[in-house]
Amino acid sequence: MSDPTSSVGPKIIAVANQKGGVGKTTTTINLGAALAEQGLNILIVDLDPQGNASTGLGIEPDDRQFTTYELLLEDIRLEEVIQKTDVGNVSLVPATVDLSSADIELYSAERRSFLLNQALRQPDMAGYGFDYILIDCPPSLNLLTVNAMVAAHSVLVPLQSEFFALEGLSQLMLTVREVRQSAHPDLRIEGVVLTMYDARNNLSQQVEADARSNLGDLVFETVIPRNVRVSEAPSYAMPVLAYDTNSKGAAAYRALATELLKKNTRLAA
Ligand code: ADP
Ligand code: MG
Repeated sequence: MSDPTSSVGPKIIAVANQKGGVGKTTTTINLGAALAEQGLNILIVDLDPQGNASTGLGIEPDDRQFTTYELLLEDIRLEEVIQKTDVGNVSLVPATVDLSSADIELYSAERRSFLLNQALRQPDMAGYGFDYILIDCPPSLNLLTVNAMVAAHSVLVPLQSEFFALEGLSQLMLTVREVRQSAHPDLRIEGVVLTMYDARNNLSQQVEADARSNLGDLVFETVIPRNVRVSEAPSYAMPVLAYDTNSKGAAAYRALATELLKKNTRLAA
């Protein structure tokens, strides 16, 4: 078993929050696209049976022959599951609804929390030269999300700027702590990013103030504004960076990528 932190391969980030609709998939796709724009080679792993990241990156269900389901539960080569997307420098392991049964099937698997870790650290992986792997987690703290956390170096948490946003966070942090204790002591929190932020709305400001006072440096300075172009982009099967490159949403995700890269070089120094 390889140690997730000892590899010199890609940096792996799990994008997780057990609440649905908080911006996990949007953040995975657009942060991925923004990192790719900076010349980095990105792999997105769709770990949600809803397959929204796959759809949002233009991979139709008919083109998802081999998916994260096979990656986790069957003996399959990376070259069969990794697909190029139309977004330059962004590849994808797609997901279909098949993955919804994986959570249960995983329970009987040996080393059930380590399957994604193992799959992403196959020797073939080096040949792809990925710089970052972003895992789009399902809206649950199930075994799929645990697999993502065990495989990842860090967890990035999108937090929707709305009431109760912080409540769910303690449950998520508890899961992170459990994963640290049982499997992966070095799992880090990459950061919390506020999504769908509306500067004119008192509630957004209050959530931001609460998050910053409770979590301090863990909260990214960059906030992602609520922006209609961001929500339109997936129906054109594009990241917002390609759909409307001058939109506020695109600018915000570029800023998030820059901030993340800065943080990571600081840590590596
Ligand atoms: P999750 O993956 O956590 O379920 P999504 O990324 O799918 O959440 O986002 C939920 C919905 O909110 C989607 O319809 C998405 O297009 C929309 N959305 C996400 N971020 C923004 C944003 N910054 N501005 C406007 N709409 C957004
Ligand atoms: Mg999603």
